[in-house]
Amino acid sequence: MEPEKYSDKEREPARSMKRLIDSCSFPGCDNFYRPDFKAKLKCSQCKSMPYCNKACQKAHWPTHKEFCSTWAETASINSGITVAKAKVKMAKLMWLVRGMPDYCEEMWDQVNHWRSRGAEGKGGFIEFYFENFQQLFDAVETIENMPIFAYAPFVGMPGSPSCGSIRHSGGGPQDLPKPLKLPLRRYLNSQKERFLKTVHERVAFTQNDERPNLQMALKLAERNKDMFVLSVSVQLKGTYCTHMHDFIYRHLSYEPPLPPPASSSYQWQKSPRAARHVGGRRV
Ligand SMILES: [Zn+2]
Ligand SMILES: [Zn+2]
Repeated sequence: MEPEKYSDKEREPARSMKRLIDSCSFPGCDNFYRPDFKAKLKCSQCKSMPYCNKACQKAHWPTHKEFCSTWAETASINSGITVAKAKVKMAKLMWLVRGMPDYCEEMWDQVNHWRSRGAEGKGGFIEFYFENFQQLFDAVETIENMPIFAYAPFVGMPGSPSCGSIRHSGGGPQDLPKPLKLPLRRYLNSQKERFLKTVHERVAFTQNDERPNLQMALKLAERNKDMFVLSVSVQLKGTYCTHMHDFIYRHLSYEPPLPPPASSSYQWQKSPRAARHVGGRRV
């Protein structure tokens, strides 16, 4: 058996999140969410929304104007740290938590407890909630300071935020990203108190609160019992929050169920040539 290979140079999801945050923010643009693209222009008010040019910025303004001033005010009450920067940290936190197998076990216990209660636990997820950017940064720092005891290969579900880059053309298995190198950590006894205070006290099992962008993920997790939704929520100025979510997998890394769920956002496309090669066998 060949051991799974992963590249040391493989970037962690927080890095690819940054690249995504650096791409054009206008959904109608070809450079929208393009990891290999760095937009040069940023919204001058919130300093968080990147665009290719004035035309993209203008086209996105009707959507962006609703939260631009909130983002700008949030930065001003958080020592000038932009929401874009906080989002990179949110992705980082998920990556760090994913690399704490013992803690993931504890979260699984929570999830299983609620799932076993049927309707009461239906549509639930685990959520970190931070009242300000500093609390988020403290949580990240706490875990970063824990010793790494091993590395494990990690692959996220195709189409999920931590999966790595799936090319837009979506060609098939050859397009699946190489596993990322996930550092595994656990806290030393001397770090336990800080961990409880800065990380564990911020987490709770949360019922489905009808957040629209969470629904698809919750449905997938309801169908695949080997994963649950982990969300990070950070308070902005006023009553607004910014959220990010991803999946935690039972075996650390995603293992595709067979056959793959039909509603997965990632569609396998078999090329006609590949189909001929395997003589009609399903691949
Ligand atoms: Zn653009
Ligand atoms: Zn703005």
